[in-house]
Amino acid sequence: MIKTNLPVLFIKNHEIFPYCETKLEFSDTNIKKTISLAESYFDNCVFIVHQKSNDNLENLKTINVGIIAKIKLKIDMPNGNMRINLKGLKRAIIHEIIEEDNLYEASLSLVNKEEIDPIEEIAMSRTLYKSLDTYIKETETTLFDSAKDIRDINKLTDIIVSLLPLNHNRKLKYLKEVSSVTRLKMLLDDLEYELSIIGIEKEIDLKVNKKIDDSQREFYLKEKLSVIKEELHENALDEITILENKINNLSAPKGIKKRLEIELNRFKSCNSNSPEVGIIRNYIDILLNLPWNKSSEENFDINSIKEILENNHFGLQETKTRILEYIMVKHYTNQKNVPTLCLVGPPGVGKTSIALSIADALNLKSVKISVGGVNDEAEIIGHRRTYVGAAPGKIMSSIQKIGVNNPVFIIDEVDKMTKDIKGDPASALLEVLDKGQNNRFVDHFIDEEFDLSKVMFILTANYIDQIPKELRDRMEIIELGSYTEYEKIKIARDYMIPQLEKEYLLESGEVSLTNKTLTNIIRFYTKESGVRELERVIRKIYRKYICNKLESKKKLDPNKNLENIIGIPKYRVNNNTENLKGVVTGLSYTPYGGDTLKIEVISYPGENNIKITGLVGDVMEESINVAFGYLKGNYQEYNLDIDFINSQTFQIHIPSNAVKKDGPSAGITVATSILSYLKNQVISNTISMSGEITLTGNILKIGGVKEKIIAAIDNNIELIYMPKANMEEVLELEYLYKNKLKIKYVSNYQEIYEELFRENEK
Ligand code: ADP
Repeated sequence: MIKTNLPVLFIKNHEIFPYCETKLEFSDTNIKKTISLAESYFDNCVFIVHQKSNDNLENLKTINVGIIAKIKLKIDMPNGNMRINLKGLKRAIIHEIIEEDNLYEASLSLVNKEEIDPIEEIAMSRTLYKSLDTYIKETETTLFDSAKDIRDINKLTDIIVSLLPLNHNRKLKYLKEVSSVTRLKMLLDDLEYELSIIGIEKEIDLKVNKKIDDSQREFYLKEKLSVIKEELHENALDEITILENKINNLSAPKGIKKRLEIELNRFKSCNSNSPEVGIIRNYIDILLNLPWNKSSEENFDINSIKEILENNHFGLQETKTRILEYIMVKHYTNQKNVPTLCLVGPPGVGKTSIALSIADALNLKSVKISVGGVNDEAEIIGHRRTYVGAAPGKIMSSIQKIGVNNPVFIIDEVDKMTKDIKGDPASALLEVLDKGQNNRFVDHFIDEEFDLSKVMFILTANYIDQIPKELRDRMEIIELGSYTEYEKIKIARDYMIPQLEKEYLLESGEVSLTNKTLTNIIRFYTKESGVRELERVIRKIYRKYICNKLESKKKLDPNKNLENIIGIPKYRVNNNTENLKGVVTGLSYTPYGGDTLKIEVISYPGENNIKITGLVGDVMEESINVAFGYLKGNYQEYNLDIDFINSQTFQIHIPSNAVKKDGPSAGITVATSILSYLKNQVISNTISMSGEITLTGNILKIGGVKEKIIAAIDNNIELIYMPKANMEEVLELEYLYKNKLKIKYVSNYQEIYEELFRENEK
């Protein structure tokens, strides 16, 4: 038995027989990928698995025979579709079908040729020819000319069946049958059956002819069909009938059914070779598969919602309370006028997983898309059908996939959309979210109104201020902050480890990870606000543990040899060993959490200007200029030598670590570095600060307070200067820094100057 692997093409409503060639046209991208795969790696061969019209991938397990076919010709059509000519080669038995990224590959073995006595074979083929001759005479067809003089019944049966007008399900039976003798017997039965139908049809024609005259041609055809059905007690389940049935049974608004009927008529009247056929068919399928009136039943039991939110996530008390309030108000007011929920915070702090828990708690289905990097509104609301390669937008294609009109719909990265000539995705998203109009949402491709008002949209973002303003105004924002080291250990110990142990089939505690090991991982291997990287490292440890156990039967102990398992530490804590003039420690907030950063200043003779280095963004550059301008404008107050300043070029460097930095909050740190340099006075590196400075020396509010405080503690800072405007927020975090760190609130730069420099002037 020769076993081989081939990419799989699932085919519905068509049959590919060995020895026969068929033309097919596709618009589906996964099918196109499969064809390309076959061309590149499988000598143009694909494996055809025929599905019944009502099969879904679940019932595939019942199919065990398919056809190996060769791609003879491939044309990329101007409308984006792909047309191929396929020649069927042989039947093969399926052993396994594996899926990866929506592409399927089958492991299969060829069907051996059946041993038949040659004399018996001649006798059988003669009987078949006899029956076929009668059929040819009755139908006056020339279809079977190509089947003349074939003695190999394996080939003969396949060719004849492919040409006979049998219904699809019957043909599938032939395709599945590996024995040519059995196929021949089936064929004899079918030919006899067809001949009897032809006889009855002739009789009916006579009867019907009497009833009607020529001008009633359409009526005649319908009459004929209904009489045939009556006589045969069988529904002609061809493609059109199936579609008609589906339309009749579809639960959808009247307008949609009307539209489907119109499209079906267009489909019927199209030439089967016209490229339009595929497009219309695809459109009909999409309309048929949308959940117009299909909802899942919401579970609204406050206690069970509370319990699920509580059990799935550690801490996040305020977030959970606000989510509960939100759900209750939404339920009480029957969805109306509740703003969309938007969860904002750094990566890995549980935004997505808490949104999924909401779905879980309400017993609703959930779906997630990302709009990060989207710059084309059509990606959200679809392309018009006239556009080459048109498709519905991300919203409606996800609704179609999930199959209900009331899922929890998570839209990730709403702060990362961009606006350009292709339109403004934010305003397209607004149409989707706007409660006033989203009950009549029109996707450009679908071109019909769909009611999105039952969908519970939850958005996520990393930065509030980068969410487009028009969206921000309509959302209820819930912020999720960074986790402290203690919180991360708790999440790992109580939530992540039990879950991962189950996933990797490990006994509870089989791989021991002490708190000390977890702390080492958090401090030296992950630099993040959330726990995503931490999860990745724990997974790595489990993988290595399992491989080691299987290979050498020795058990790894991550508490003893962490470096051997996960490599050398990536990060080291800043030990603040050097105290230098012109170098001051600032605090920054990046998507990966808070961090300390050194701001360095030197000067050299040159034109009076500033040179900034270290991957600094525009806003930070501006804040450096403002800090410098402020000091120059107040040189007398701060006792600075203005002639010296004017004769120098100042270089301000923020060592980069290859990370781009931006934001205005380095202002007061820059001012302090410049003063430290000019006054030749060292500022202790256990002092840090963060605040935006204006030209009048006022110090403005900053963001990322929690992250900055955590970073300061981790980096052995003892005193931070923070804007007075942040005082309330900082005091709420006292539990974090109490006994570890002193915080002083300042509202004008003079206050910092008084404390750090004035003393030394005296
Ligand atoms: P985000 O969407 O904010 O980037 P995720 O929701 O993907 O983050 O969270 C990353 C991982 O961390 C998930 O496995 C999640 O379950 C886990 N996680 C985050 N916060 C918590 C928490 N408070 N309790 C338990 N697990 C958490």
